[in-house]
Amino acid sequence: MMSGVFDLTGRVALVTGGNGGIGLGIAKGLAAAGASVAIAGRDAVKTADALAELASIGSPAMPVEVDIADEESVHTMMRKVGAQFGRLDIVVANAGINIRKPPEDYALAEWHAIIDTNLTGTFLCATAALPEFKKVGGGKIITIGSMASIFGGGIIGPYAASKGGVVQLTKSLAVSWAQHNVQVNAILPGFIDTPLTRGGRQSAPAMFAKVTERTPAGRWGQPEDLAGLAVFLASPASNFITGTAIPVDGGYSVQI
Ligand code: NDP
Repeated sequence: MMSGVFDLTGRVALVTGGNGGIGLGIAKGLAAAGASVAIAGRDAVKTADALAELASIGSPAMPVEVDIADEESVHTMMRKVGAQFGRLDIVVANAGINIRKPPEDYALAEWHAIIDTNLTGTFLCATAALPEFKKVGGGKIITIGSMASIFGGGIIGPYAASKGGVVQLTKSLAVSWAQHNVQVNAILPGFIDTPLTRGGRQSAPAMFAKVTERTPAGRWGQPEDLAGLAVFLASPASNFITGTAIPVDGGYSVQI
């Protein structure tokens, strides 16, 4: 009786940064639940590799090149998805970057790169999706925060500012768009083994070793660990849930 509420057959999902790391883990989950999936990123080679991985799942998938920090590029992405799949039901605003250094060492251009990608990019993708959602009577937006949406960190100032902003944006979109039957929720990943964190593990090994120690689950997460919550938040099972920010962190954020 419950299995149908997680079924995404006939739904179309767009995953920004779906060509690697957490985005690909989520894209695989959505495809396995039956959704057609558009994989959006800047690197066409990575996107082609991701599509090859998705092929074995069997749901329709398409590549789309985008720079989510560029408004025109985001609108072009929406048009391409509409042209190929004919509708849009789910947006996972996952693409993001980080640059680690003490606050006083950032060039202004680095601050802008992080904020423009993580926060402005999420805003652009969400607002560009709304007209598509209205055409089909509703939609689901999943934003990606971080432990840095909750905690600060000495070498992640702009990143933490962007991810705190993502959560407040999520709540505000949820309030504003409930009238359109659009649910907007954030996933806050804990420490997940991806290309984004592999660089940090090399540059600050002691700090990163502490993560395993502090995480009650006793391990780093894998991209696939995010798929279950993403499918839930993309599905009718979560139709009365909006504006939340849910950690997927092996208990990291509740350990004193
Ligand atoms: P990755 O670096 O593996 O993936 C990031 C993705 O974002 C890439 O696929 C990249 O695609 C895409 N991307 C970056 N900038 C742009 C842009 N301007 N336009 C379009 N696509 C872009 O990192 P993760 O998978 O680890 O991170 C995914 C999300 O999860 C990010 O928002 C990150 O902040 C968040 N997160 C990650 C955590 C972790 O521990 N890994 C913890 C908490 C949050 P391309 O290479 O094609 O540009």
